[in-house]
Amino acid sequence: MEFIIEIGDENQKQLIEQELKYVEAITETCSPDLNLRQLIVASNFEAKINAMEGVETYKAERGINPGDVLVAAKIVKVDDGFAIILSPHLFTDMHDIQTRCFVVLHELSHIVNRLLFPPIPNDSMISYQYLYHLYGMYDEYTSDRFAYNLVEDSFSSKSSHWNSYPNKQCQWGLSSHH
Ligand SMILES: [Zn+2]
Repeated sequence: MEFIIEIGDENQKQLIEQELKYVEAITETCSPDLNLRQLIVASNFEAKINAMEGVETYKAERGINPGDVLVAAKIVKVDDGFAIILSPHLFTDMHDIQTRCFVVLHELSHIVNRLLFPPIPNDSMISYQYLYHLYGMYDEYTSDRFAYNLVEDSFSSKSSHWNSYPNKQCQWGLSSHH
């Protein structure tokens, strides 16, 4: 797995990579193999996703009012597996190691779900739409639960960022989903 850290000076890049090393440890023990090829901290999150997906339409901002919700991470399909793209916002004082960990674990769970979920049958548009949204909700729900439980179990003392995070998540969840 390759770490691509596009933000910070040399010392900061090293600290970020050190913090994210646990992802490598998780993927090495994972079965089925997640085929996680890259973990990228992008200097420009939207531009990176658009470039990697070959589109121009990806927007990180969601919700009814501008700035309501800012997507912080996304998985992208690459040739022989997946990449996780992280927003530089995760490395500002809006976040700390515990909330960053939640975001990364949530994305890892999305990859597991991608590998385990059955393909959506395409025989009827109505059932496709129904199942597509049902899968989407289940995907977000299980990913949140997985990440939440693991962060709760991994850090014996919880930060103020973490303690206020579920509240923020709920407020975001009411206005949008990602
Ligand atoms: Zn998600």
